[in-house]
Amino acid sequence: MTTALAQTSIPFFNYRGAFAAREDEFIDIIRDVMRRGAFIQQRDLAEFEDALARYLGVAHAFGVANATDGLVMSLRAAGIRPGDEVIFPSHTMVATAAAVAHVGGIPVAVDIGLDHLIDPASIQAAVTDKTRAILPVQLNGRTCDMDAIEEIALQHDLLIIEDAAQALGSRFKGRYAGTFGIAAAISFYPAKILGCFGDGGAVVTNDADVARKIALLRDHGRNEDGDVEMWGFNSRLDNMQAAILHAQFRDYDQIVTRRRSIARLYESLLSDVTEIGLPPGPDADKDHFDVFQNYEIEASRRDELRKYLADKGIGTIIQWGGTPVHAFAKLGFNVSLPVTERFFERCLMLPLNMMVTDDEVTCIATAVRKFYGVAA
Ligand SMILES: *Cc1c(COP(=O)(O)O)cnc(C)c1O
Repeated sequence: MTTALAQTSIPFFNYRGAFAAREDEFIDIIRDVMRRGAFIQQRDLAEFEDALARYLGVAHAFGVANATDGLVMSLRAAGIRPGDEVIFPSHTMVATAAAVAHVGGIPVAVDIGLDHLIDPASIQAAVTDKTRAILPVQLNGRTCDMDAIEEIALQHDLLIIEDAAQALGSRFKGRYAGTFGIAAAISFYPAKILGCFGDGGAVVTNDADVARKIALLRDHGRNEDGDVEMWGFNSRLDNMQAAILHAQFRDYDQIVTRRRSIARLYESLLSDVTEIGLPPGPDADKDHFDVFQNYEIEASRRDELRKYLADKGIGTIIQWGGTPVHAFAKLGFNVSLPVTERFFERCLMLPLNMMVTDDEVTCIATAVRKFYGVAA
């Protein structure tokens, strides 16, 4: 019986499946928006922005073209100037650092801690008299220890701008990722928890001055009267994408609950395998409420494990193509970050998405156990 098992196929992410699951509803939305000819800065965008702001309890939310633009505009609106140093964790997408570079700032890469997020001690050690801001990344759907980061910011008079691209709904001590700093960017890239059919993002802020600037920056610097007040960008969230995001956002709590339950299942099936390290589980501590954008483990013999799983039809991904930002030689970083470097020899992401079933998670865990020779 078990010897004749068909080849499994569990892709890391299943775009087509995610569309098929709600195809009729999505097509209705697209048709409705198209029939209204409502494409740029229309009511669907405004309604989605309202829903997002209400959910996070922030004063302002702006749909933008993508989170990378959102970070650039947040940094600019917050007043980061050429030569300002901005501290960020090297375990992130290059976009985090690129945003700093695009406003003329100097991205300063620091190390991660045991929870894979920016290490407060490493931030502290990197502060100079040119440091203007900390750019924590709320990675994998987990919010950093913001108490420690806020304390450092206060001590050195630094701004906090959050890369919350992966963390919509994540909380630390009851506060949402994206609400700690002067501004934050969220991503709606298709593989993000709330993903659209293309690129999309948002900037959220409680700061009235930053909000006003973001509203101008995303639309060519134009105000309501059509007067151009500053050099801006064309970085708007398409109205159609906003409509689709809003429909999915209505079920967001269920989506997060499901993701947490997949993480809980992985933990129950893998926590005794000593060759791997699991991320903090959904019930690990009361301070964190993680939404599990990713399930990123550490694994000994990582590359062999990855191949073993691939041969069984199980898709995995090494985040950022396996290179932390400071290790891209042509970007000119000159720093060694031992915890991050060691982590990148071992990190691997297992499938965690709305299409993967409990049986598939069990199948993945069984394969991992078998690879290490641990009894089922
Ligand atoms: C996805 C992502 C970004 C970039 O988001 P885009 O919307 O694709 O621009 C930035 N930072 C992190 C941590 C991300 O995961």
